[in-house]
Formats: sequence, structure tokens, C-alpha cells
Amino acid sequence: STRLQNKTILVTAAAQGIGLATALACAREGAQVIATDINAALLDKLAHASPGIRTAVLDVRNADAIAALAAELPALDGLFNCAGYVHHGSVLECDEAAWDFSFDLNVKSMYRMVRTFLPGMLDKAEKEGGGASIVNMASMASSVKGFQNRFAYGASKAAVIGMTKALAADHVKQGLRCNALCPGTVDTPSLRERIAAAPDPVQAERDFIARQPMGRLAVAEDIAPQVVYLLSDESRFVTGQVVLVDGGVTI
Ligand code: NAD
Repeated sequence: STRLQNKTILVTAAAQGIGLATALACAREGAQVIATDINAALLDKLAHASPGIRTAVLDVRNADAIAALAAELPALDGLFNCAGYVHHGSVLECDEAAWDFSFDLNVKSMYRMVRTFLPGMLDKAEKEGGGASIVNMASMASSVKGFQNRFAYGASKAAVIGMTKALAADHVKQGLRCNALCPGTVDTPSLRERIAAAPDPVQAERDFIARQPMGRLAVAEDIAPQVVYLLSDESRFVTGQVVLVDGGVTI
């Protein structure tokens, strides 16, 4: 179908998990997708997946690399800032290096991406009478809800929500919308790594499943449609929102 026809959309962390499912879903809806990730080998597999997808290696921690990519690309209609990292532990297990890494990858990277791509998005939105949309990946583990061993992660994802609302407020009259996405527990490669790293992986998987009243993990394809909606003009009256897709955790 064509819900994203004529839209150019950049996705970070698009080589696996939610970013990958979203890049594929956006291409199916007719978008021109720039799928970016730090993992070149995984991106290669995606390069020929769909004629609507082009890939580019991008480390969202590298401001120069972001500027160089932006200089090659047309103005964006949509930006999905998906890259992020889960630090496991309480405050007592979080040293300054771990804190700084989480905030750099989960928060400052979004500031870098938005600062670089926003001028082009706003110009285009002005010419076209709106249609620019940013979706920032937050989490239910954030200002929404506290979880054990998500000290740096929860703080960083709460910051994503604050940044999202500030962006929405600043640019609402310029045709740009900005929303924060908060998934429940999603079965992705990094979740599998977190389960495998637990002292009792079988119990860890049960505990992750038990978080959701729906009694299962999400798959990435449960999350991607919400991003498609937020990037599409169907959500044209929606901005500054914290959008939960959590299998009932926050009922
Ligand atoms: P994942 O963690 O399995 O994959 C992450 C991807 O990010 C990888 O392809 C990796 O190469 C890429 N990446 C890592 N560092 C990068 C960098 N510096 N620059 C660019 N790309 C980089 O995928 P996921 O579990 O779908 O997580 C994606 C996002 O969703 C994260 O922000 C995560 O916090 C968030 N999230 C995940 C869950 C979950 O349960 N899986 C729940 C809520 C929110």
C-alpha cells in the first residue's frame, strides 16, 4: 500500500530488531527508506531486500559521520531515531563510563541526528504545508515506569521523552511533529543476548514474558506499524505524545 508514498525516511539502528522491521514496513508503504546502522555486515543483507531501501553505515555517536551522510541525502520527511542500548544494573552497578555511554548513545545521538536533519525537514515541510515527522525510540522503562536493573537505561529513555516534547513544542507551527515510542519487551537479538547473559536464562525469559499481561513478548512486527502510523500523515493531529505499545503493562 501507499501510506508513505513520496516520503523519504531515515531509520537508525535498522540492521536488526525494531529498526529493521520498521525499515521494511516503511518500504512496503511506498517510502524511500535510508536504512542506517553501525553494523555493515548486517546492513549488506538488507541492501537488496526492497527497491525502496538504500543502506548507509552510520554510527549515531559520530557527529561528523552524521553531517557527511546528511550532505549526500535529500531532505527527509521522516526520521526514526531507533538506536539505543540497554545497560543492566542498579545505580551501584553503573559507573560514570556506563552512564556516559548510555546517555551518549540513547540521548545525545538523537540530539545530533535532529540538529543535523531538522533544517532540511523544516524547509521541506514549509514548502509542502507540513508532513514532517520524527519518532524517537523511548521505552516503557523511562519516566513511564520504573524497572529493576534499568537505572541508566530508564534515566536515558526518560530524557528521550523530555527531548521529544521540547521538539514538539518548538516546531509545532512549522509542520513538524515529534513523538516518543515506548515498547514493552520485544523479542530482538539484543533481548536474546540479555536473556543468555542472565544467571538463569530460562527464568529470565519467563520473567520478561511475565511483564506483559498479554502473556508474551512482542515481536518487532508488533511495533513497526505504530511507527509507520506516526511517520504517516494519518497521525497529522498527533504530536508530543508518549505512545505505549506494551501488551498491557501500563493498563
Ligand atoms: P537491537 O538492540 O537488537 O539492535 C540494535 C541495533 O543498533 C543493532 O543493529 C546495532 O548494530 C545498532 N547500533 C548499536 N550501536 C549503534 C550506533 N552507535 N550507531 C548506529 N547503530 C547502532 O534492537 P532492538 O532491541 O529493536 O532495540 C532498538 C531500540 O528499541 C533501542 O533504542 C532500544 O532501547 C529500544 N527498545 C527495545 C526494547 C526491547 O525489548 N527490545 C523495548 C523498548 C525499547
